[in-house]
Amino acid sequence: MSLVVQKYGGTSVGDAERIRAVADHVARTREAGDQVVVVVSAMGKFTDDLIRLADDVSPTRPPRELDMLLTSGERISMALVCMALAARGVESASFTGSQAGIITDTDHTRAKILEIRPTRIDEALAEGLVPVVAGFQGVSTDRDITTLGRGGSDVTAVALAAALSADVCEIYTDVTGVFSADPRVVSRARRLPRVSFDEMMEIAATGGRVLMLRSVELARRHHVPLHVRSSFTWEPGTWIVEEDPTMEEAVVTAITDDTSEAKITVGGVPDRPGVAARLFRALADRGINVDMIVQNTGANGLTDISFTVAATDLDAASDTCREVQREIGAAQVTSDDDIGRVSIVGAGMKSSPGVTALMFETLSEHGINIEMISTSSIRISCVVRTSRVAESVRLLHSAFGLDAAS
Ligand code: ASP
Ligand code: MG
Repeated sequence: MSLVVQKYGGTSVGDAERIRAVADHVARTREAGDQVVVVVSAMGKFTDDLIRLADDVSPTRPPRELDMLLTSGERISMALVCMALAARGVESASFTGSQAGIITDTDHTRAKILEIRPTRIDEALAEGLVPVVAGFQGVSTDRDITTLGRGGSDVTAVALAAALSADVCEIYTDVTGVFSADPRVVSRARRLPRVSFDEMMEIAATGGRVLMLRSVELARRHHVPLHVRSSFTWEPGTWIVEEDPTMEEAVVTAITDDTSEAKITVGGVPDRPGVAARLFRALADRGINVDMIVQNTGANGLTDISFTVAATDLDAASDTCREVQREIGAAQVTSDDDIGRVSIVGAGMKSSPGVTALMFETLSEHGINIEMISTSSIRISCVVRTSRVAESVRLLHSAFGLDAAS
């Protein structure tokens, strides 16, 4: 008998019919002899609707109250799933994040889980019930209700799976797994049967939209195997697991794209120690995450520093740069939100020379200009114009032999 944590995302519980389908699948899993813990998201786009409602009501949204509001979405789902299970003859009980013992810090709207005390979940399992837990939420050390950040139900599911030593955490969604590229961009993208944690972290960090990065990090740290699969077809999906040292790795596993970032260039800065430190300290103090950074070699004692931030942080980041511009002696600050990033990810690239060259050649043959480059041991990313992103992904997908046979 295995213990399976099943997380159902918004589309998987989007309406009454979907909720009944979820209950059927939970029942099937139990009939196969496994224990199940369910984690649910809010129905469909309900969280977005609640945020809009808050905006309509008031220009200020105290974070504590916003969290109280947003957690109601998952409460609706959990109660409805339990009702559908009751109709199916499966005994279950719903639990809020707080009841499930998910203790977080006090950072409202993006709280971090500090500890899980799953006593009530353990008890429910021991009684033969299916615990149904509201995702995306917990209770803070100040005893207030918190949320874990958008998409946080994945984090709830993985953290619970770790705390309960579950055998697998299944993430049900509206796609059939993780693909070699976004199938909306590349029609010949293939579903990947198996991806390593390291690769999945790079995929999630560079635009793969299936799993939240934080949940992959957590799964890797706690050795929780993930299985991403569809709640519409129920077919086996993609396993995200530890690297198998006995298997030869694919050189390139996936091509990702991300157009959610923007670029800032601080031009004509003196090429001396302390300048970059001052600039990036100012950004960090504002809570702005910086992604790719490029500094050119200096000429005449001056240099340029370019970096990318989330487009939503662009105004705050530009303001911050202008504030320190005089202090660091920079000539100008310019910004550009017409950029996108294309990345190739693959654990096998560590030991394969020529991957970088092939990527650059493929782009250059089609006149696509590379504006910034960054690498990790298993990823290469290039910043290009937004208008060339989709084309770049398709070209690289073919060049690295990932196209499915047609
Ligand atoms: N309902 C929350 C959101 O939309 C959490 C989740 O879906 O994971 O962000
Ligand atoms: Mg979601």
